[in-house]
Amino acid sequence: MELFKKIKQITHLMKQIDFKELGEISEKIDLPKIMKSVGELDDNQLKGLMKMLTEKAKKGQHKLPPIDGDFYDYDLKLSQEQRDIQMKVRGFMETEIDPIANHYWNKAEFPMEIIPKMAALNICGVAYEGYGCPNLPFLMEGIIAEELARVDVSISTFFGVHSGLAMGSIYLCGSEEQKQEWLPKMQKMEAIGAFGLTEPNVGSGVAGGMETTCQKVGDEWILNGQKKWIGNATFADVIIIWARDVDDNQAKGFLMRKGNPGYKAEKIENKMALRTVQNALITITDCKIPEGDRLQKANSFRDTAKVLRMTRAGVAWQALGCARGAYESALKYTKKREQFGKPIAKFQLIQNHLVEMLANLTAMKAMVFRLSELQDQGLLTDEHASLAKVFCSMRTRDVVSRAREVMGGNGILLEYDVARFVADAEAIYSYEGTKEINSLIVGRAITGYSAFV
Ligand SMILES: Cc1cc2nc3c(=O)[nH]c(=O)nc-3n(C[C@H](O)[C@H](O)[C@H](O)COP(=O)(O)OP(=O)(O)OC[C@H]3O[C@@H](n4cnc5c(N)ncnc54)[C@H](O)[C@@H]3O)c2cc1C
Repeated sequence: MELFKKIKQITHLMKQIDFKELGEISEKIDLPKIMKSVGELDDNQLKGLMKMLTEKAKKGQHKLPPIDGDFYDYDLKLSQEQRDIQMKVRGFMETEIDPIANHYWNKAEFPMEIIPKMAALNICGVAYEGYGCPNLPFLMEGIIAEELARVDVSISTFFGVHSGLAMGSIYLCGSEEQKQEWLPKMQKMEAIGAFGLTEPNVGSGVAGGMETTCQKVGDEWILNGQKKWIGNATFADVIIIWARDVDDNQAKGFLMRKGNPGYKAEKIENKMALRTVQNALITITDCKIPEGDRLQKANSFRDTAKVLRMTRAGVAWQALGCARGAYESALKYTKKREQFGKPIAKFQLIQNHLVEMLANLTAMKAMVFRLSELQDQGLLTDEHASLAKVFCSMRTRDVVSRAREVMGGNGILLEYDVARFVADAEAIYSYEGTKEINSLIVGRAITGYSAFV
């Protein structure tokens, strides 16, 4: 065999090996130097080297699938520890969730049995400090949201409500005592949280128009009203309820414990998106809540907004995950599906769709990555998060619809793993601030004019 051919083969094999796995060596690898040394090996030595590399490369092929939706290799910017967490989450989603996702989505039920397995990943409150939380950069919260949504947006929403909105409300607005009581058990998913802000009559305008009221009577608060769309609320152990204080007209937050006699949560039926998520219509009738269960640092809607600012970045990442899941399924399909005697991936118009999807994914990834960097540097503003939410939820709609398109009729069948993303993208588009409301937040910031009303 010619030396040139051998070197080419060796280079190819080396490209398939994850040198990060080799630890320190990865930092010091110098491919041109290695190639020069390879050129100096005799035939036997070359054969031995090729055997070793072939085995390594084969091993690599049994790992989880390559990250083909991360075209600019943003994930290479992660540390080994961060990458390991990402792979752990991916492994969980592909082995535990992927096989059951369509089934539960179809039945509109939540797979309660996955909670202990998810808890074992140790990813709740990933960026929070103390209370058993991992205290990693916010970037990891984004990476986790992307990985969860890449397989199942419902699971990612369940997680985002619990770990982001509910734990986040306690983390940012709770007293030390409240944090000590709730965060460690929520971190281990021994207690599940929900977040009740939206109401039947007020969604986008909730900051000024909240109808749910609270009133202090002695050492207790009396709450009355309704909340709509509240994820996890049919089974959650603690539901953060936001209410307007009739005395000072300010928003206050409460820890509503499961089993409070005045609390009723009815599952919202007939959803066409995020069907696995248990969204509820909550009715609160003369609910008594002790002062000790009022979030002690939530004194106006500005405090509620702090929680939303922290979690909105995660929704942009979730949009990316949703788009990526659809793109990766569609790409695989186009290579297998044959029409006119060849794989449809060979057709120019199909490739055009795939490239537009990938361009959108790549732009989204660049945007959310930088967004999380800003968050980790303490520089994140509402308008930063809103711009990412606007852009990513719009682009995701485009990606999932193209993914559906390249799959023809099969694109609307659940088992082809794109239809669910198409439907779920619609919910992402509307929750945590619709596209219009987030646009108005950015519009106000760049023009100085508020155009909300
Ligand atoms: C699947 C799902 C899960 C959810 N989970 C939760 C949850 O766990 N907790 C929670 O509290 N909420 C939750 N929500 C509620 C969500 O945050 C709201 O749906 C969202 O804020 C929009 O409110 P709305 O649906 O009442 O729409 P509306 O506010 O009625 O808006 C209707 C339309 O009018 C537009 N609009 C409104 N005001 C303006 C304006 N000033 N200028 C221009 N356009 C405007 C909107 O953009 C939208 O297009 C969830 C929603 C969904 C769909």
